[in-house]
Amino acid sequence: MGVVTTIKEKCRRCYTCVRECPAKAIKVVEGQAMVIEERCIACGNCVKVCKQGAKSILSHKEIVYDMLENDGQVIACLAPSFPAAFDTLKPGQVVAGARVLGFSEVWEVALGAALVSAAYEKLVRQNGGLLITTPCPAIVGYVEKYLPQLVPCLAPVVSPMIALARALKRRYGDKPRIVFIGPCIAKKVEMEDKNVAGLVSAVLTFKEFTQMLEERNVDLVNMESSDFDGPDAGVARSFPISGGLLKSSGLSQDVLEKDIIVSEGKERAIPLLREARRGNVHAKLLDVLFCEGCIAGPKMLNDLSTFRRREIVADYVKWSAERANQLGKEDGRKVFADVDMSRAFTADDKTLPYPTEEEIAAILGKMRKFSSEDELDCGACGYPTCREKAVAVCQGLAEPEMCLPYLIEGLEDALADLESSHKKLKDTRDQLIQAERLAGMGQLSAGIAHELNNPLGSILLYAHLLLKQLKGKDESEEDVKMIMSEATRCKNIVRDLLNFSRQGSFERESTDINEILEKSLEALSAAPGLDDIKVVKRFDRTIPSMTVDGSQLQQVFVNLISNAVWAMKDGGTLTLTTRMKDASAVEVLVRDTGCGIPEENLKKLFTPFFTTKKMGEGTGLGLAISYGILKMHSGQISVESAVGEGTMFRIELPLAAAQSGIR
Ligand code: ADP
Repeated sequence: MGVVTTIKEKCRRCYTCVRECPAKAIKVVEGQAMVIEERCIACGNCVKVCKQGAKSILSHKEIVYDMLENDGQVIACLAPSFPAAFDTLKPGQVVAGARVLGFSEVWEVALGAALVSAAYEKLVRQNGGLLITTPCPAIVGYVEKYLPQLVPCLAPVVSPMIALARALKRRYGDKPRIVFIGPCIAKKVEMEDKNVAGLVSAVLTFKEFTQMLEERNVDLVNMESSDFDGPDAGVARSFPISGGLLKSSGLSQDVLEKDIIVSEGKERAIPLLREARRGNVHAKLLDVLFCEGCIAGPKMLNDLSTFRRREIVADYVKWSAERANQLGKEDGRKVFADVDMSRAFTADDKTLPYPTEEEIAAILGKMRKFSSEDELDCGACGYPTCREKAVAVCQGLAEPEMCLPYLIEGLEDALADLESSHKKLKDTRDQLIQAERLAGMGQLSAGIAHELNNPLGSILLYAHLLLKQLKGKDESEEDVKMIMSEATRCKNIVRDLLNFSRQGSFERESTDINEILEKSLEALSAAPGLDDIKVVKRFDRTIPSMTVDGSQLQQVFVNLISNAVWAMKDGGTLTLTTRMKDASAVEVLVRDTGCGIPEENLKKLFTPFFTTKKMGEGTGLGLAISYGILKMHSGQISVESAVGEGTMFRIELPLAAAQSGIR
């Protein structure tokens, strides 16, 4: 497990960590910002910036508890920033607290800094080329992974933590366990670095240390102060404040200013290193720290300003000098002068190949960015520009979906799709309700029609016989004729009802749909009102011939056209259109510019006996029958209308179903 990991449940996809990670060590997987262990330099920046607290740090608390219980000698090494972290306590109370926890000795890491400073001093005076001082493990990690060309420039000197660990090993041998306590997360990585591993057994952040004190009910406020073990660290206690290394090495006064660049904080340190890699830096010494001095480390315990922290450390440096005098402490640099301070570094190139222009363009296209205007560079994804984001996608570090404008557009499309399918669903549901209602009526009509058909036949037969008997002999002859004519009308209604209920007989023939429409117009040529109407024919002559019952379809068209003529009493335009709807269906449109149909009537149109026409003008069966006929052809009929503007009936007939015959 890496030193820094993401707590999935807490990650709210704000991508701040992506934006702030200097090592591009955060990969977005299914929207979650995951830390890539081998790319992470454990600078702790993501931990600092995550408002959700979704980044967790590998804790060494349990390891330390275990050591304190089972290993006799466990030495605590307090980082020199500790007075600024525990600003409300006396420094000696923190030392005493560590002893109460069970640490056998408590040493100052500042002593390691004193040893390191001496080594730097020597090195800088000898060295000719560019030298990068490297007490910061985050900077070491960054150079090894992302600027491997600069590895030979890293000053081959250990960090104060490792320097102190070596001094302690020199004094006590391999037995004691050494625990570093400080504000730095990267120290947890450094202790495992193969070039210095095996010296430090655990690294506690100040936070973990305070948690241990709380868990063991150690009250530091009322604690008697205690002094550090070991010899005096001297001015190296200023190591954690800006320029501290140079000050404690005595370099800042000796070397000409332009030969030294002190650069602290990732915003300055990393660009400086990049410049150095390009060969644009002419200074001899770069003193580079990832944070603004270790007093600004990610795991300090308060929100004090760097200036206030600097003051606290400066006061402590002064106070400690007097205290060391009182205690008659030896100079640590002399005591441990022979301890080896050297180390090696290993390039561990993690730079990613840069994608080609085509690859970048392809990813930008995926994010719907086809021109520079589409590239909003809003930064919501964690990358400063859309292009950098596309590069990260190519490098497998990001997902195209992380783009906010892309997501919003996608959502808008999804919403439009949803609305359209919702409308379709509603239309289909209405059609189904209508179809069910009409099917019920169809059954009823069929039953009634069957029952009436035979008695009507008998009435007609007997009326016919009666007429024969009475012919020329009786004045009731006319009455019988009336009976026959009314019974015939009833028979026709019964026939229409049977048609509507799809019980009628069917005759298939290969027919041209345009021809049926022509015949329908012809059949109505004598109809009153048609002369005042302009007829527009928009026929697709390429429609293949269909196997339909021509005379029944003609009945449908006659119905629709005569209704259209009726609706355009003051004249208008009748437009008849035929066209292929798609490869498998034909569409016939009958459009008029007549009175239109009010909304409340639209749903009732296909119901038998629904009519708005005057008595004798209509039976209300025309559209019901048309509906039945079209259903028999596996077709559909629908209507669109606006009052005062006109009406359009749309008929859809499947080509294949019609061609394959009618069931
Ligand atoms: P009918 O023509 O016997 O009334 P239909 O079933 O053919 O029976 O028509 C039912 C009703 O639908 C008509 O009475 C009329 O109100 C309305 N209608 C049908 N077609 C049109 C149209 N093109 N314009 C306006 N109203 C129409």
